Amino acid sequence: MEKKSGKGLSFVKRIYLPRIIGLGIGMLSVMAGISSLPVPAWAWGLLLFNGLVWPHLAYQIALRAKVPYHAEYRNLQLDSLMGGFWTATLQFNPLPSVTILAMMAMNNFAAGGQRLFIKGLLIQGLGMLLSMALFGPGLQLHASTLQVYACLPMLTLYPMAVGWVCYRLAMKLSEHKRRLSALSRTDSLTGLLNHGSWKDLLQLKFQICQQQRREAVIAIIDIDHFKAINDTYGHVVGDCVLHQLSNELKRTLREDDLAGRYGGDEFCVILPDTRMDHASQAMERLRERVGSYRNPQLPELRISLSIGLASCSAILPDPEAWLNEADKALYCAKKAGRNQVNFAHSDLSALKLAYPD
Ligand code: GH3
Ligand code: MG
Repeated sequence: MEKKSGKGLSFVKRIYLPRIIGLGIGMLSVMAGISSLPVPAWAWGLLLFNGLVWPHLAYQIALRAKVPYHAEYRNLQLDSLMGGFWTATLQFNPLPSVTILAMMAMNNFAAGGQRLFIKGLLIQGLGMLLSMALFGPGLQLHASTLQVYACLPMLTLYPMAVGWVCYRLAMKLSEHKRRLSALSRTDSLTGLLNHGSWKDLLQLKFQICQQQRREAVIAIIDIDHFKAINDTYGHVVGDCVLHQLSNELKRTLREDDLAGRYGGDEFCVILPDTRMDHASQAMERLRERVGSYRNPQLPELRISLSIGLASCSAILPDPEAWLNEADKALYCAKKAGRNQVNFAHSDLSALKLAYPD
């Protein structure tokens, strides 16, 4: 069965419960207000219909509409018409009238902003005129104790219901925002950071390293002859290889390490607070693991990696220069026969000094 959907369906659902509560308890204030007035029986019937049946009918009408949003917007306008109608029928008894009009103003503002608020005011005026045409104009300035008490549920429960709906909506929106922001930072195929967000972090980490004299290494990882893998086994297998490598990266790296997909078959990692020898060991481990990967369905498939490493040093002017060092090291690894880890020139000399053999 086709799932019901349409513009504004969640809007309709959001309004359903507050309308049940608002019109249900609003009916009590109107009842108390008109109990002392010569109102015909049909008006009492209309009030019962408006308070008890209309919320469900309005919901069903909007659900079944081609564009639920438009139907619900019309329902809200009808609510305003009835609100104005009952206010004049109450002969503008101050407490219930102000209660009804204030709650409707809040409702219209929350549901449709300034536009619906103003439209609602005009329609309320129309409702008042309709009531005055039917029952004649009247003014009832005195509110009895019963009328005061009958307004209390509306004054307390309805704002709570609207507040609760707004809170849930705000929570939902912040969750959507969080998910969208995560999505915009993620590479869809591998689930790693995408190019842009990784470079933003590179900038940040570079500044931290330079300002606080902290160690960090970046690694650029490239799959060897990946084009041949695509050409031989197809792009679906190629994608699986990229996915497999990203899984290995997640498994090999520490929580603080920042892995991203630089583009195509190139991956990039920032290893904060890491010495070059430790970074090199981690990358060797990754290279070996990926190299020993076998797929029973494709026994011939071999994957090897070339990796260029560069550590952050005070002589580097900017993050691009740091990245460039790692890129050059990768280029040397490719040139030297692939399937190996290589270091930037400056790191190589430092390592030779530290480990002469
Ligand atoms: P080298 O050893 O020099 O790195 O050779 P290579 O074949 O790996 O390098 P090259 O840059 O020539 O090829 C990279 C290939 O990666 C080319 C491109 O079609 C492929 N590629 C890029 N993005 C994707 C992707 O998302 N999925 C798949 N399956 N292939 C991709
Ligand atoms: Mg490659």
